[in-house]
Amino acid sequence: MIVIGGGLAGLAAGVALAESGYRVRLFEQRPFLGGRATSYVLPDGEHVDNCQHVTLGCCTNLDDFYRRVGSANKIKFFDRLLFLDPQGRRGEMQAGFLPAPFHMTGSFARFAPLALKDKFSIARAMLTILRTSGHPRDLDESTAISMLEWLRRQRQTKRAIERFWRVVLVSALDEELDKTDARYGIDVFWKAFLSNRTGYRMGVPVVPLAELYDGCRLAIEKKGGEVQFRSPVRRLCIEDGGVTAVKFDNDREESADAYIFAIPHGAFSDLIPEGIRQSDPAFRNLQNLKDAPITGVHFWFDREVTKEPFITLLDTTTQWVFNKTALYGPATADRNGKNVTNGQYLQLVISASYDLLQKPRQEIIDLCLKEVRQALPAARDAALVKATVIKEAGATFSPEPGVDRWRPKQETSVHRLFLAGDWTATGWPATMEGAVRSGYLAAEGVLKAAGSSQRFLQPDLGADGLVTLWAS
Ligand SMILES: Cc1cc2nc3c(=O)[nH]c(=O)nc-3n(C[C@H](O)[C@H](O)[C@H](O)COP(=O)(O)OP(=O)(O)OC[C@H]3O[C@@H](n4cnc5c(N)ncnc54)[C@H](O)[C@@H]3O)c2cc1C
Repeated sequence: MIVIGGGLAGLAAGVALAESGYRVRLFEQRPFLGGRATSYVLPDGEHVDNCQHVTLGCCTNLDDFYRRVGSANKIKFFDRLLFLDPQGRRGEMQAGFLPAPFHMTGSFARFAPLALKDKFSIARAMLTILRTSGHPRDLDESTAISMLEWLRRQRQTKRAIERFWRVVLVSALDEELDKTDARYGIDVFWKAFLSNRTGYRMGVPVVPLAELYDGCRLAIEKKGGEVQFRSPVRRLCIEDGGVTAVKFDNDREESADAYIFAIPHGAFSDLIPEGIRQSDPAFRNLQNLKDAPITGVHFWFDREVTKEPFITLLDTTTQWVFNKTALYGPATADRNGKNVTNGQYLQLVISASYDLLQKPRQEIIDLCLKEVRQALPAARDAALVKATVIKEAGATFSPEPGVDRWRPKQETSVHRLFLAGDWTATGWPATMEGAVRSGYLAAEGVLKAAGSSQRFLQPDLGADGLVTLWAS
């Protein structure tokens, strides 16, 4: 089997097939694994994540993947989400003693950044999601509606939209509410916050992202396969309706019984021969997928400015602040062996960061620094030792209303050609969970075509508590 692309989708497919006894050859264009969810060393020697990545308790396939490759212990789960508004009001979301769907009721009632009127409106919308097991009738309309439209129909207050729905969904889906399919938005609340007690728990890696994939290469090599770096595929050869080979630089050619392309949709579109792209809507429609950006801002302070592992900021450009120093744990030396000081490394995340794409980096640093100092009093006296900004213009595909009709299945009309990637049809938005699901589905497709069926896809987290009384 040949897998092209060493992101989570390609790795999930490659590891699953290798574990089923197949010889997998994985080709990755870069010198490391992880794709968009990776880390690397900056020119100044600092090892940084491409951007902070988090998972949730409801991401059952990503969890399964981390277990397969021995990385589950590199993810730390947190039960408490902390929110801070510019007035210094704190709000927490945490499961209490009540069963689902009431497990968050206590912390929600005490959530200071929202007024009673906002909370009633949110509770009303939650009830609609609950009563319909995450599928309100509005989702069956012939034209998909946006999340903002659905919230308006649910008569949500302005503050509930800004300080609750938008805060959770822009970071979960990397898009503004008016450009998000309501199905995706409602799904987040049903799967993570309502149907069970644990779906909302946030998992944060306690190592740089690239270290999560150490076991992948091993799993593939154990079964006689290999991972080849710096190997960009340049051409996809198709004859008589089937793939015959893939071509690399210097006319090198490789062939196999099946090919899984787990590369971004734009890169795949460039490889598929024009005639085939035009003749099959699954390939032609890829041009309709739009990109959404995420910006990461990295701050190194000369001292500790917060003890919290992570914080969500309300009403600011900065959406999340991650305390990388606390997450990575105490260290006496950095990864290059240099002694570390008592400083603190924070990573800020801004999803759907369209407004920042054209802004100079220094302007972004100044803006975020002001917001961090406003939110964290200890940062006001701290010196910013250094900072860096990483803009990802094509971080994810935009989950705009109706986007699912552009997402192709993993099995294609071309023999021996399979697709994987967060952009393929998984039902999930562009997330690590979506990428792993796509890889598992592609691997299942390969085995089905070979006449042996096996299931890799893990079921969703089941409903629990009182929700089991009516959820199917
Ligand atoms: C800034 C940012 C923040 C994010 N935050 C989160 C988060 O908190 N939680 C979450 O769940 N998701 C998050 N995501 C989304 C998540 O990273 C992606 O959904 C997931 O990693 C996609 O994996 P993939 O394998 O589908 O694609 P990719 O990771 O893009 O992998 C594709 C691979 O193919 C390789 N490739 C491309 N062309 C070729 C070629 N011709 N030949 C060989 N190799 C090739 C690439 O180098 C790459 O390694 C974030 C994404 C970004 C960018």
